[in-house]
Amino acid sequence: MNIPVEPYRIKVVESLRRIPRREREAVLRKAGYNVFNIPAEKVFIDLLTDSGTSAMSDRQWAGLMVGDESYAGARSFFNLERTVRRVFGFKHVIPTHQGRAAERILFQALVHKGDTVPNNIHFDTTRANVEVLGAEALDLAAREAYDPDDELPFKGNMDVGRLEDAIKRRGRKRIPLVMMTVTNNSGGGQPVSLDNIRRVRAVCRKHKIPFFLDACRFAENAYFIREREKGCARTSVAEIAREAFSLADGATMSAKKDALVNIGGFIALNDDRLAGRLKELLIIGEGFPTYGGLAGRDLEAMARGLEEVLEPDYLEHRIGQVRYLAALLEKERIPYFKPCGGHAVYILADRFLPHLPRNRYPAWALTTALYREAGVRAVEIGGVMFGRKDKGGREVYPALELVRLCVPRRVYTVSHLQYVAEALAELYKRREKIRGLRIVSQSPYLRHFTARFEEV
Ligand SMILES: *Cc1c(COP(=O)(O)O)cnc(C)c1O
Repeated sequence: MNIPVEPYRIKVVESLRRIPRREREAVLRKAGYNVFNIPAEKVFIDLLTDSGTSAMSDRQWAGLMVGDESYAGARSFFNLERTVRRVFGFKHVIPTHQGRAAERILFQALVHKGDTVPNNIHFDTTRANVEVLGAEALDLAAREAYDPDDELPFKGNMDVGRLEDAIKRRGRKRIPLVMMTVTNNSGGGQPVSLDNIRRVRAVCRKHKIPFFLDACRFAENAYFIREREKGCARTSVAEIAREAFSLADGATMSAKKDALVNIGGFIALNDDRLAGRLKELLIIGEGFPTYGGLAGRDLEAMARGLEEVLEPDYLEHRIGQVRYLAALLEKERIPYFKPCGGHAVYILADRFLPHLPRNRYPAWALTTALYREAGVRAVEIGGVMFGRKDKGGREVYPALELVRLCVPRRVYTVSHLQYVAEALAELYKRREKIRGLRIVSQSPYLRHFTARFEEV
């Protein structure tokens, strides 16, 4: 097993406290057995998300100090614009306060009621921003995306045949754009190949449909392409990313992922007229086009993060950490979604806890058990998050029942990952003792954020 040696040393530390088990028990009860309700201070190792949780470098922190806070024409904006033009290759750069604002503005300009927007798999906010306009968010991932045992290299790919069918069925006038999420976050953080991006682009070209990348994890995706796609081993990750972007008309970006900052986002594109329209919408909801809802220092940190994220040592360590965690679980025979993704390992909770039926929410039960055992916070992606009622009022469950262990960038060390794996191994040994849960209160939308539970 390759140890992912940190390609950095630590200059500032943030204390972590592991509260005693009895206190964790009380915290869990008070939180209604929902880890979203636990104050972060009561968490020892937080693997809830990799969004906005990255550690910035000394260069980025220094960038905050030289951030230009001018309302219009700030130097920090031009630094960001120059960097995005170089890394992404698009002409227009429109900053937003985070990824979902980029989506909202782009879709407001392009999407109408009754339209369909295809994607490999829509991320939650992308889906919500399509649906709120009365349009359909259509997922067209290839079938293997939902198979946890199939170790194919590019499980994030779109099924191009199904894309052609959808365009034929709906008519190209009802498809205002096609999106591709790289890596496919909702599908296990799996990469999309250059070949697949090329083929989707060819279809979009043929039908004159704009093609945008949801580029949150573009660097991680490019790393996988370099490693796995034929003929790419000797191309740099930066060149591969450029190539991928050159196949698209534009991109939306959450800088909270692969720009290594705590807040920020942008839209990048070539079309002058559309860019003009987006800037009008930006001014209404986000701010003047040279700051877009952010402080000048945020723009500066983003520009610097976008350079660091493409450094080979950074990416090798980043993906290496996720792989290392997966390898530790593999050693304990703990079942997880294979291959592991770029930003997280997803445990197959229905196999981890086979004694619990779906209506006792095995993945949810595992997140509460992991917190109780070790103070580690993970997130359920299963029956609570995606369960829905059929016409008869019976709950229908998604195909996969997962616990996501999401690794923040540059935040935790090898020993933290070992600690997490040991806690899971301990739980796995006494898995029959882990109890299921029942919901005692819930809201009709996005219930996982607020639902309360009790143990059965
Ligand atoms: C996080 C994310 C978004 C939304 O970005 P926010 O910055 O959280 O608003 C969109 N798409 C994908 C794939 C993401 O991971």
